[in-house]
Order: sequence, then structure tokens, then C-alpha cells
Amino acid sequence: MSEFTRRDGRKPDELRPIKMKVGVLDKADGSAYVEQGGTKVLVAVYGPREVHPRHLGLPESAIVRCRYHMAPFSTKERKSPTPTRREIELSKVIKEALASTIMLDLYPRTTIDIFVEVLQADGGTRCAGITAASLALAHAGIPMIDLVSACAVGKWNGRIIVDLTGEEDEECEADMPVALMPSLERVTLIQLNGRLTPDEFLEAFNLAVKACKYIGELQKATLRSYYEKIKEEVLYEQ
Ligand code: ADP
Repeated sequence: MSEFTRRDGRKPDELRPIKMKVGVLDKADGSAYVEQGGTKVLVAVYGPREVHPRHLGLPESAIVRCRYHMAPFSTKERKSPTPTRREIELSKVIKEALASTIMLDLYPRTTIDIFVEVLQADGGTRCAGITAASLALAHAGIPMIDLVSACAVGKWNGRIIVDLTGEEDEECEADMPVALMPSLERVTLIQLNGRLTPDEFLEAFNLAVKACKYIGELQKATLRSYYEKIKEEVLYEQ
């Protein structure tokens, strides 16, 4: 039997190369950039800050708002800059995947605003957006019970694979984005397009958990090296 290969030569359980950076925007309270293969996402976080309009504020908790947006230059065919139904849905999904980790009751009557900007789309943009947004929230100093790490899995050519490219996403029999709190092992997002048998679902889910935990380690290392660099700069200035 011939060896199973994906279009880009990866093994079924192999992720694309990942780059992460925090503190990439001066004007935002928190920011992060994540690159996963050809997918490039930039996130800015503002808050906790006063809510406008004020009646949206909650007396005992902060609210979270999220805007997921694909830049017109992020796809081959120019995407209209006006929000599509897909972008409105993904904004809600990303917000919900992150909100359960934030200690919202510490900041009543405030809002935390998350802007996810997809600079280049090649599969898994909601997952890269969640991973980057969690980093940006941490960079903004917002207390959370854990990070959130996300990765898609799916079934392509009869096999369960991790981290689908845009092309694999188009051709696949099923795709399933998963977001996980990597230390607490709690799922904050799971969606499934297509069909999987119960055994395939379990295989895919376990693969997603493994990928999310690996991404969680990269997130922690990114934050650690950012703050170590700041510490060195402060010590150098003294
Ligand atoms: P995700 O990016 O989270 O996987 P989808 O499954 O909706 O979300 O999209 C899969 C991929 O399809 C995207 O990452 C992108 O590469 C491509 N895609 C989505 N929407 C568009 C669009 N409007 N124009 C061109 N490509 C798109």
C-alpha cells in the first residue's frame, strides 16, 4: 500500500510551521500575531474599558465583544470589506470560545473588545484567531483561568488529519475546529462540518487535543520570552 501523503507532504498528524508574537501593536492594550502555515492573523485587544453605549454594560460582570474580519487582500479573489454572514458567525463563535476563560466578574460595567484581523487565509483562520486572541488577552494583562489554544482536524481522502490547509478544507469529507484550555483540559469550542463515524470522531478529537496542547506550550513559551526580554531591558536601564 502506498504511503499516505497530503498535498504539502505532511503526515496526517503533522501541524504546519507556527510563529507567534505578542506586543506587535503600540495602540492596543494587548496584541498578538500568529502564523500557521499560510494563515496569518493579527489580534488587538482593548479593555477592560467603559462600555459605549452604556446600557450594554452589566452590573456584575464585564462583557466581551469580538469582531472577526478577513482583510480584502487575505484571499485570492478580493473579499468584500463589508461583514459577511460567515464573519458575523465566526465573531460570535470566537467570542464564546474565549469568554469562559476570562474572569469577567472582576470588571463590572466594562467591555473587553477583541479585533481579529485575518491578513492571509489558508485554512483554520478561526482557530489561529482564537490562539492569537488568547495571547493578546494575556498580553493585555486580563486575568484568565487558562489560555485557549485552537486547531482544526478533519477527514481528507479517508484519513483523519490535523491542521487543514484551505485546499484540504475545500476537498475534505469533514472538518472540525476545536478550542481547548490546554492546562485545565476544558473544551471551549467544537464544531463539525461533514460526517464522521463515532470512532473517527474520537480519533479526530484526540488528535485535536494533542495539537491544542502543543500550541498551548508554544503560547506559554511566547509569553515567557516576551516578559523575559522586558525584564532584561528594565534591568539594563537601572
Ligand atoms: P476557517 O478559516 O476557520 O477554516 P472556513 O472553514 O469557513 O473557516 O474556511 C476555510 C478556508 O476557506 C479559509 O481559511 C480560507 O482559506 C477559505 N475561505 C473562507 N472564506 C473565504 C472567502 N470569502 N474567499 C476566499 N476564501 C475563503
